[in-house]
Amino acid sequence: MRKRIIAGNWKMYKTMDEAKSFVTEVKGRLPESDQVQAVICPPSLYLSELTSLSEDSMLGIGAQTMHDTDEGAFTGEVSPKMLAELHIPFVILGHSERRQYFNETDETVNKKVLAAFSHELTPIVCVGESLKQREEGKTVETVAMQVKKAFEGVQAEQAKRAIIAYEPVWAIGTGKTATANDANDVCKEIRSEIGQLYDEETASAIRIQYGGSVKPSNLAELLSMDDIDGALVGGASLDADSFVEMIEVA
Ligand code: PGA
Repeated sequence: MRKRIIAGNWKMYKTMDEAKSFVTEVKGRLPESDQVQAVICPPSLYLSELTSLSEDSMLGIGAQTMHDTDEGAFTGEVSPKMLAELHIPFVILGHSERRQYFNETDETVNKKVLAAFSHELTPIVCVGESLKQREEGKTVETVAMQVKKAFEGVQAEQAKRAIIAYEPVWAIGTGKTATANDANDVCKEIRSEIGQLYDEETASAIRIQYGGSVKPSNLAELLSMDDIDGALVGGASLDADSFVEMIEVA
């Protein structure tokens, strides 16, 4: 049984005050459950404060990105070592916005994935096709290649702990969701790619989220699919009520 995971990607939203109020409110409202993991990924500036605030609750905190080396002359960056020191359990890597606006490539994503594992951080590795790739029938090919490259050099024992977020680029922030069946088909292909790279055991252990315009009203159907183990949620994770509702649905 794979534990479901709903992660909120806050992107560059919320003031510190708003972030603190959210965590204070939400941690008291989350249902007691060992079957679902709730995570929010705030801007890195808030990680330390929100980690302390959420300490006695089931709310996990994750980073939205990080550099691939422990330290160095990389103005503006946050390192895996720094996240590990704060006991941040999760880090989103290779989000399509990072690939699009910050020149992240399969190669840099791979370096970050390896760095995350070397610090015992759990990466949420994002993959997904563009609208053009989907229209050209290249969805599976694109996503399988992204997975293969992201996991180069990763050991099976590490891969089992990883989370993959399948996020079709055309569905992010657009209000367009892949149908549950389409999303599941791609998640199944991702699992089978992991099976080919490793083995059946790893493939059935790894958790795969769907992301792209997920909200309380479409989450149940997505989660009813065999290969979808959770969601990476942008817009709808910013509102405390809808975040709590999604955890309840899961
Ligand atoms: P969205 O974003 O839920 O607002 O579409 C998802 C994401 O970017 O992870």
